[in-house]
Amino acid sequence: MEDNLKLSNPKQTIEIIQKYNFNFKKSFGQNFLIDSHVIDKIVRAAEITKEDNVLEIGPGIGTLTQYLAEAAGRVVAVEIDEKLIPVLGETLAEYDNVEVINEDILKCDIDSIFGGESFKVVANLPYYITTPIIMGLLEGKSHFESITVMIQKEVADRMKAGPGTKEYGALSLAVQYYAEPYLAANVPPNCFIPRPAVGSAVIRLKRLIEPKVSVKDEKLLFGLIRAAFMERRKTLLNAVKNYREMNISKENVEAALTEMGIDTRIRGEALTLEQFAALADKLSD
Ligand code: SAM
Repeated sequence: MEDNLKLSNPKQTIEIIQKYNFNFKKSFGQNFLIDSHVIDKIVRAAEITKEDNVLEIGPGIGTLTQYLAEAAGRVVAVEIDEKLIPVLGETLAEYDNVEVINEDILKCDIDSIFGGESFKVVANLPYYITTPIIMGLLEGKSHFESITVMIQKEVADRMKAGPGTKEYGALSLAVQYYAEPYLAANVPPNCFIPRPAVGSAVIRLKRLIEPKVSVKDEKLLFGLIRAAFMERRKTLLNAVKNYREMNISKENVEAALTEMGIDTRIRGEALTLEQFAALADKLSD
């Protein structure tokens, strides 16, 4: 399709919205892209080729989908809003490699979509469910290679943050345990209609073949991390002590830290993923 006829041209988007008398639903996080440069950046960051299967979450009226269809072998787009299904029927009519499924992505059996073949996830995500979607994919068993998504800038910063920064937290560690993050672009509100209240960013998470650290008890690792950041101003020792979901004594943590040569007054926000894993291993012995 010629670029000026695509929905990334704001004129085309407005025309189709008026034609279908479409009302944006805030509750579904509907902010549609209207900037071809941003869409190009998303598709480039996702490194899509004609060999690729792509899962798009929330195609909206099909703006990003039109570009994905031209770059990929096959695209499956899952959209919760039934009002958008007839719109997508029109805007994607000329692409025979796109399938639209009217479902809630959080209830979808993702692996059955591509019959066990690998796929890349690409989306301008509905921001209200960014974390459940991404953590569901990372912790799940589906065969995705990478996730390239538009999310809130503040959440992207947290995903790629390292120790000792104010953005560093349980989300950074959970994401970096499974994937390698790369910030592909910062995107201002005027690239969408309606404009979101916050800045956005495109982040790519490439799945690691093995988790970044090997640990005897994954549940214990993430329990420790959760405890450490529940009260991030406290020392790790005091944060763990106050966290009743974990059956770990302050004395054991103190002994493990000393054995590791780490100051026992350290805060969780100063520990690397490797140090959290080593601590979890010592505590599970
Ligand atoms: N991809 C389009 C674009 O870039 O212009 C639309 C992106 S908009 C930020 C998010 C889309 O996700 C909306 O179309 C919304 O209806 C859809 N959506 C919201 N919650 C969803 C869910 N649980 N499952 C599938 N789609 C969802």
